[in-house]
Amino acid sequence: MRLRNTLILLATLAAVFAIAMGHFARETPTEAQAGRIALHNSTAYTLPPAELQRAVALSRTHRNLAVADTLWMPLQLLLILVLGVTAWMQGVAVSLSRNRWLQGFSFVFLLLLVTHLLDLPLGIYGHRVAQSYGLSVQGWGSWLADIAKMFALEWLLGGLLAMLIFWVIRWSPTRWWFWFWIPAVLCLVAGVFVTPYVIDPLFNKFEPLAQSNPTLVQQLEQVVARGGINIPPQRMFLMKASAKSTQLNAYVTGFGASKRVVVWDTTIARCTPDEISFIFAHEMGHYALGHVAMGTAISCLALLPLFWLGFHGVHFLLLRYGTSWRIPSQQDWGSLVILLLVLCVLSTLSDPFANAFSRAIEHNADVYAQEAVHGIVANPQQDGRQAFQLLGELSLDDPTTHPLYALWFNTHPPIGFRAAFAEAYDPWATGQQPKYFAK
Ligand SMILES: [Zn+2]
Repeated sequence: MRLRNTLILLATLAAVFAIAMGHFARETPTEAQAGRIALHNSTAYTLPPAELQRAVALSRTHRNLAVADTLWMPLQLLLILVLGVTAWMQGVAVSLSRNRWLQGFSFVFLLLLVTHLLDLPLGIYGHRVAQSYGLSVQGWGSWLADIAKMFALEWLLGGLLAMLIFWVIRWSPTRWWFWFWIPAVLCLVAGVFVTPYVIDPLFNKFEPLAQSNPTLVQQLEQVVARGGINIPPQRMFLMKASAKSTQLNAYVTGFGASKRVVVWDTTIARCTPDEISFIFAHEMGHYALGHVAMGTAISCLALLPLFWLGFHGVHFLLLRYGTSWRIPSQQDWGSLVILLLVLCVLSTLSDPFANAFSRAIEHNADVYAQEAVHGIVANPQQDGRQAFQLLGELSLDDPTTHPLYALWFNTHPPIGFRAAFAEAYDPWATGQQPKYFAK
């Protein structure tokens, strides 16, 4: 890989990122002013002293867990390469059968088994923490069942993808990073489409929101009408989150015919219809502002340089360590672990950029929410602030998160900022134009 090509690629990626951020971080004067007020307001989201202490302790644990997870993922892949586990798994798969399908699925099964076992201690610790802080009410049986389902899914999908990528590698040894990108994009788009139909129901129960909350659906339809978009009541779902969690949430998922809004039953139990309308309007903002389509498109585009770097990374490592790792060529099953290691490092390095982008669009959805419920709920500023107060309280969100940690790991702006922004943002009071609903 020529250094010049790599520099050109990195410069192009930096330029695309800067342009996208410039576009999505653009603020109206009223929005910028509310943002400045929010930065200096530490009373919009507060916790009583005892809860604050627990929140700070929990956030310290979460921080350590997140850092450990981030480091452990590439480290475990490196370990199984260096310790010869990969070569052993490859040997077992090849000795089982001459049939490539059997070999591929056996190799992926062993790889998943080893990595899941290596992940288990951190996973158990994380779940125990969530239980002890009362964030999770999921028992160990159900927790293990979720892991087993995840394993089966990863085996099926990972096995098919492995068969595909090795087929492409044999067919085009030097251009596979491009040829594999095309089916990978198709798989990603198909994955986003079918997730709400096929994957989500494996882990949680869903029912039409109108079934248990018809008056709420009526109010939400008012918000939808205000947004001038089309989300029929059949695309509004209630998720029975209370079987596993005590936290609040709502999200938007799928696209086209599978596009839908999901509200957790915990949110409905704790929030007033006006507060739910605000949370819902934030979710609708992701619809209306095209975040799902855009997120999918950006992920698809980002895969191409990722695969290109992955291809060169695999070659570089095979050349230097192929012999000692007992993986002679990229056509060996074991080279999949090298590729995963390279992709894992690259995706970890790109996390801060992806998260900065995510925080920008989450803020846009907050602005959208406030504007969409204007005139429908009694007091958009108070309802918004209170919704964030409840979200934070029930997740034990630490109002004092370290900015450096937030910069790397957080996908949303700090909850204190979001609450304070909701309280301060009121373009109508000063006769300014709203950002998304300008006349
Ligand atoms: Zn959001």
